[in-house]
Formats: sequence, C-alpha cells, structure tokens
Amino acid sequence: MNTLLEVSGVSVSFDGFRAINNLSFRIGKAELRAVIGPNGAGKTTFMDIVTGKTRPDKGRISWGEKGLSLLGLSEARIAREGVGRKFQKPTVFEDQTVQSNLIVSLKNRRGPFAALFYRPGSGDFERVAALAGKIGLTAQLSRKAGELSHGQKQWLEIGMLLAQEPRLLLVDEPAAGMTLAEREKTTDILVEAAKTRAVVVVEHDMEFVRRLNCRVTVLHEGSVLAEGSLDHVTSNPDVIDVYLGR
Ligand code: ADP
Repeated sequence: MNTLLEVSGVSVSFDGFRAINNLSFRIGKAELRAVIGPNGAGKTTFMDIVTGKTRPDKGRISWGEKGLSLLGLSEARIAREGVGRKFQKPTVFEDQTVQSNLIVSLKNRRGPFAALFYRPGSGDFERVAALAGKIGLTAQLSRKAGELSHGQKQWLEIGMLLAQEPRLLLVDEPAAGMTLAEREKTTDILVEAAKTRAVVVVEHDMEFVRRLNCRVTVLHEGSVLAEGSLDHVTSNPDVIDVYLGR
C-alpha cells in the first residue's frame, strides 16, 4: 500500500480511562475507508488525534512520503499539511451564496497569511465551477447557502473542504438525516473524492457503508477489532458479539 497516514501504537486516556488503546491504523494515498464501531468505541477520539485536537499519551503518527510526525503539531499546521475534517453538522455561511462559500474556502487554502492578500482570479471561478460540478450544486451557485436542503449543505461543506485540496479527508456521518436519493449522491461524491485523496468516513449506517463498497475498520474499546470488506467484518464473531452487546 502507498501509505499516506500511519498511526502506530497510539493510546489516549481521559482521567485514567483509555479511550484509544494501542491503536494502529494505516491508510493509502487514494483510499476510501469506512470506520465503524459501537458508541464509545473511540471513533471521534481517533479523528481528534489525527487532526491534532487531542494529543496521544504514546505512539506515533506518521504522515506523507517523508514520514512527518504529526505529534505535537498544532491543529492549524496539521490542516495545512492537508488533513481536512468534516463534522456531522454542516457549517456553511448561510447568508452567503454557494459560490461565495466556495471562494472563501479557495481563499483560505494557502493559510491565513496568504488569504490576506488574496484576490479571486479567473482561475478561481473555473475552480468554483469544477467544484460545484463535483458536489452537484452547479444550478445552486447563486443561491444563498441558507436556502439549501440539509443534504445540499452537507455537499457544499464537502466542496468547501475539497477547495482546500486536502490529501486526507475525515468525514463524520455524512449521510445522517439524508433521504435515500441524497445518500446515493453522497456516496458518489465521496467515491469520486477518494480517487485523488484518502477519505475516511466514520459511519453508523451499515447500508451507507455497504454503498461505499470499501475496506472497513471496526473499532472497539479504542483498538481495531477487525478490518476488511463489510461482509468479512460483519461475519467476524467478535464483531457480532460487540454489536449485539454480548
Ligand atoms: P465514539 O465516537 O466511537 O462514540 P468517542 O471517541 O467519542 O467514541 O469516545 C471514546 C470513549 O472515550 C468513550 O467512552 C467516551 O466517553 C470517552 N471520552 C471521549 N472524550 C472524552 C473526554 N474529553 N473526557 C472523558 N472521556 C472522554
């Protein structure tokens, strides 16, 4: 595998409770991966350690071709290294148009200092058009983001993250609250995005995970319990026990 991110033997404790326990995880450069696991399995904490929000007590996190250690880097620096994160709730600028939202993200992609001197050029309008096509919002470019449906807001936020050209995109339950048609389109957007970068999707909805048709990592008590195709992991007796609460 052409590895982009390698987490090795990472542990995190909160007041003596091990939320992440000797976790090792690897993702390739253009790979789509689903991370599943029951509540409290450590999925959110896993994203927090990769993005630098939470510092591990031990272990290594190695990034990119040169194996840069992400440990101890600030969240802003890790974002600049190319780690993007989408939280469950969409956070778009509701009173601005879809186009403006995308332009703001393009503007920020080189960091806060470069953003000070940024002027949108013709290349950026082409980029906005291409991004809008990728997230299926071409017809909505001049609409206010606040007028979009829940699904469309989620896609806009994915587009805003893609505008920043991440090499790894962490996405938390992107299909929550969506209609079936919206879920299908979300699948297409994520599958397409993962052709040129790594995408990790934390998800509860097994039907959605099936649609993603990718390698699945099952977390339990802060460690990897199983990994492989969805059929492979869901036929694993340990995984069945965990999901049935045995
Ligand atoms: P998941 O996202 O899979 O539901 P989390 O990563 O949110 O799991 O949580 C893993 C475990 O760590 C849970 O038992 C949770 O209660 C605990 N935990 C997470 N964050 C904190 C925190 N800031 N302080 C104390 N315990 C926490």
